[in-house]
Amino acid sequence: MSGIMAGKRGLIMGLANDKSIAWGIAKACAEQGAELAFSYQGDALLKRVKPLAEKVGSEIVLPCDVAEGASIDALFDSLREHWDRLDFVVHAIGFSDKSELRGRYLDTSLDNFLMTMNISVYSFTAVMQRAEKMMTEGGSALTLTYYGAEKVMPHYNVMGLAKAALESSVQYLAEDLGRDGIRVNAISAGTIKTLAASGIGDFRYILKWNENNAPLRRTVTIDEVGASAMYLLSDLSSAVTGTIHHVDSGYHVIGMKNPEAPDM
Ligand code: NAD
Repeated sequence: MSGIMAGKRGLIMGLANDKSIAWGIAKACAEQGAELAFSYQGDALLKRVKPLAEKVGSEIVLPCDVAEGASIDALFDSLREHWDRLDFVVHAIGFSDKSELRGRYLDTSLDNFLMTMNISVYSFTAVMQRAEKMMTEGGSALTLTYYGAEKVMPHYNVMGLAKAALESSVQYLAEDLGRDGIRVNAISAGTIKTLAASGIGDFRYILKWNENNAPLRRTVTIDEVGASAMYLLSDLSSAVTGTIHHVDSGYHVIGMKNPEAPDM
């Protein structure tokens, strides 16, 4: 198989369906010659994830609920039965209680705060603790973040704090793992209609706002995130680590509303 990912083996975490950002990345990885394994959260998702994995030539589909350390251990124990080496990991996982992805951040409960931080932030570190041991020839890890880490976005609330912490963890992990040739980066994706994003209050309004005001005057697709991920996951970015790469039609550089945009 030829392509910039030929000879590389990667674990894709966070595939729910064919709208998932993880699917955009998985397709691009497979097109570029990578061998893939997938994890899925809970039995209900297996019937969606398995056929997608098969489409990109993967028979390694393993359960993992990242809220539980034992489940992450079990994932890597099973993965080691298939592969003796891992070259890249994609962590496309985030979760917060839908009822708190609307209204005021101020009203966040402690339980949801801790659960959101565990699943959306700590899980990346927990995964890298296990992945490090299999990345014997160096590697590349990629997580997904959002502009709500940098600026206040309506309804994003505790997920904004989680993404800020996730971005900081990218930098700390890059330092810790750099000496072993393992690079750690994030893509800050523009808004895309996925299962997770649909839980955010006024999501359709946020999508339209991005379309009207981003420099490219449009939103982004999972395939565009996938294409950009090829740079960060492949050797094309062999000297790039600890970085947050925006794939958002340029929205993050804008200071105010486009005066030509229709009133919303
Ligand atoms: P998605 O719903 O397709 O994917 C989210 C995934 O997280 C699902 O596969 C789900 O099973 C998984 N997940 C949640 N809790 C889990 C747990 N306890 N254990 C294991 N897996 C768990 O949505 P998506 O938009 O593709 O989300 C992927 C990543 O991209 C998330 O981190 C999200 O915050 C980020 N992101 C999304 C957007 C957007 O607009 N869609 C923008 C920027 C960043």
